Amino acid sequence: MSTATVSATTSGLWRIRALQLAEEKRLIGTARLIWTTVYGREVWTVPSRTHKGELHQVTVDTTSGRIHCDCPSRGTCSHQGAVCHAERMREQATRAIQSEQDWRNECNLHGALMDAGRGWN
Ligand SMILES: [Zn+2]
Repeated sequence: MSTATVSATTSGLWRIRALQLAEEKRLIGTARLIWTTVYGREVWTVPSRTHKGELHQVTVDTTSGRIHCDCPSRGTCSHQGAVCHAERMREQATRAIQSEQDWRNECNLHGALMDAGRGWN
């Protein structure tokens, strides 16, 4: 097994763990994207469940996929999970828009063919 495959598997498991934590702490749907830098970094905020009214800042490096959270937890934390979930939702939304556009393009294509057919008659 190559090194790349191992790290991909590890990050996959890490994501699942983070999502589990976010679900346990009811943080799903609480992440807010506040900033995107020109370097492909995203800054998200997730409310703290231990300190009411406080926010944790989660930074995502979109090129490497690394996620860093400012909370004291050294390993995988629930805030990272909340951001993972929000990113997945956004991805799905983008895909939905894309397929809607594909569908429209297809309709336009059929319309054009019909017009062409009419031209022949
Ligand atoms: Zn955290």
